[in-house]
Amino acid sequence: MRVLLLGGTAEARELAAALVAEPGVAVTSSLAGRVRDPRLPVGDVRVGGFGGVAAMTDALADFDALVDATHPFAAEITGNAALAARAAGVPITVLHRPGWTAGPGDDWHPVDTLSAAAALLPDLGSRPFLTIGRQGLSAFSGLRLWCLARAVDPPGPVVPPRMHLLLDRGPFTVDGERALLAEHAIDVLVTKDSGGVATAPKLTAARERGIPVVVQQRPPLPAGVAVVSTVAAALAWVRQL
Ligand code: NAP
Repeated sequence: MRVLLLGGTAEARELAAALVAEPGVAVTSSLAGRVRDPRLPVGDVRVGGFGGVAAMTDALADFDALVDATHPFAAEITGNAALAARAAGVPITVLHRPGWTAGPGDDWHPVDTLSAAAALLPDLGSRPFLTIGRQGLSAFSGLRLWCLARAVDPPGPVVPPRMHLLLDRGPFTVDGERALLAEHAIDVLVTKDSGGVATAPKLTAARERGIPVVVQQRPPLPAGVAVVSTVAAALAWVRQL
């Protein structure tokens, strides 16, 4: 069985390792090629966009199953994968880690878009910390407040005008996040609802500090696509095929 695994996440790397060890399964991981120095999965890897739905449909002629383990906010590739799988008649499942949920002591402000987050910030604080990835920073280009931003790679030219940029990649620790919030006197955090453990310590640190958190909600999934939330469930899905 030949499996095309759309990746770019820790879960996709974990699943690639499991599928490589699976008898009778050949896995090819696909990366967008956005990150300059990506963490590569084991097994075969292809890098770069397919060139849209029709081209992905053609590429699926070489595969028997498609697992979309891309990031929950990578909505375009997930939409394309659903359409291409249907057109090619290839079974598909989406592996999305569960989102985060607020607990006691959290002061979360859900928003649908990063523009809405930017509009909300001045009501919530004066020293925001933006942890929404470099591609999201352009939505804050009209922000008058000083801000701290963190991303894996440098952003494009359209960014908040008073931004202090940290280039760093998770996993992060609660101690590290606590120290960072204190060092920069952060009084509001902005995040996507990415889920997972690697970047969750900032939420603990924000709760301890008693500061609000603006949380961008996940984009909707394409209709009719089966979703699993763990690597084990994705592996079981491949096995039952
Ligand atoms: P996106 O907006 O959903 O996709 C834009 C285009 O990039 C797609 O149409 C496709 O190009 C190409 N692409 C995306 N993922 C691909 C993959 N795994 N393999 C081959 N082509 C891919 O994607 P994005 O939000 O920029 O994310 C890009 C990658 O970074 C994803 O693989 C995702 O898992 C990872 N990532 C994203 C985030 C995030 O917050 N968005 C965070 C961490 C990691 P074509 O139309 O040419 O096929």
